[in-house]
Amino acid sequence: MVFDHPGRIRRLRSRLAESSLDSLLLGKRENVYYFSGFTGGDSLLLVTENRVFLISDFRYREQAEEELALGCRLRLRVSASLSEAAADLVREERLRRIGFEEEDISWDAWRRLKDLLSGKRLSPAGKLVGGLRVIKDPDEISSLRIAAARTVRVLGRARGSVRPGMSEAELARRLSAEFFRAGGEPAFPPIAAGGEHSSHPHAAASARRFNRGEICLLDLGGKWNYYNADLTRTLAGGDFPRRFKTVYRAVLAAQKKVLRAIRPGVRASDLDGLARGYLADRGYGEYFGHGLGHGVGLEVHERPSVTARSGEVLEEGMVFTVEPGVYIPGWGGIRIEDTVLVTAKGCEVLTAAPKNLESCLLEW
Ligand code: ZN
Ligand code: ZN
Repeated sequence: MVFDHPGRIRRLRSRLAESSLDSLLLGKRENVYYFSGFTGGDSLLLVTENRVFLISDFRYREQAEEELALGCRLRLRVSASLSEAAADLVREERLRRIGFEEEDISWDAWRRLKDLLSGKRLSPAGKLVGGLRVIKDPDEISSLRIAAARTVRVLGRARGSVRPGMSEAELARRLSAEFFRAGGEPAFPPIAAGGEHSSHPHAAASARRFNRGEICLLDLGGKWNYYNADLTRTLAGGDFPRRFKTVYRAVLAAQKKVLRAIRPGVRASDLDGLARGYLADRGYGEYFGHGLGHGVGLEVHERPSVTARSGEVLEEGMVFTVEPGVYIPGWGGIRIEDTVLVTAKGCEVLTAAPKNLESCLLEW
């Protein structure tokens, strides 16, 4: 897949100009990849008004030569640290106002950079990059579609292989193996939670065994071409547990309400409110304790956040999850999660796995 790196650099440069910056220093791996195509680590990307430098070392030389987008120059550091090599470049290029990723730099690295660049103006500029990455371009959308479709397929296969008596850990391992078998990899360690354990929204797969008549909650996502998907379905082994149908119908209706409301111009916080209000009206308010969703792209959790406090307004090309849930301690949890793309008039569900009540029942 060939991404439009020159277009991304162009858009970044116009944002830098608007912020009166003459350059931006990036170290976060996803950001370096987004603008340069380089997939290695331990490297920095310096974008100036007319040049792009990848600062890396011997270990990555060949990889950088193969992967770097047209126009990116490779600067190999020899003995100096990465930040010293960056500071040398800043001086050579006579840069004065340098942006940096305030949320993705350690206190230590920040102090070193400040010492090395004393006399230069360092400004937090991570939000400029977040603002670009939040809108996915057509090539990114293709990768996200593939990641989502593979995730749906892996879920389908898992449904066929989960049996009473299988442990959560074993099922989680199988899910991971399915992603590798499909030529990708898991985006995160899959969650497989049974019975009352499913009331932990981020349950770690344990030795607990799945039983008939219990909840089987699966949260999984594949990574394709560095892009991720995120999908949750809550199944029932053989029989529906007590209260399952009522709670499931409420969560599904809340999710569908949100999906119908998605379109450009809508506030992300309003989507959260829609699901939260609907569940609260049915008496489940205290059992939905996390945000409604999160952006998905090169990272599994990125902008836009879809929570009560989010300041994001939806735009075409945003991709995020819609994942209302009801978690009742001692009983279990039901979450329905899809990754969706905001389109011109609504949304497209990328993780289109079945989710009607009948589809939840595992044939045990
Ligand atoms: Zn998930
Ligand atoms: Zn999620």
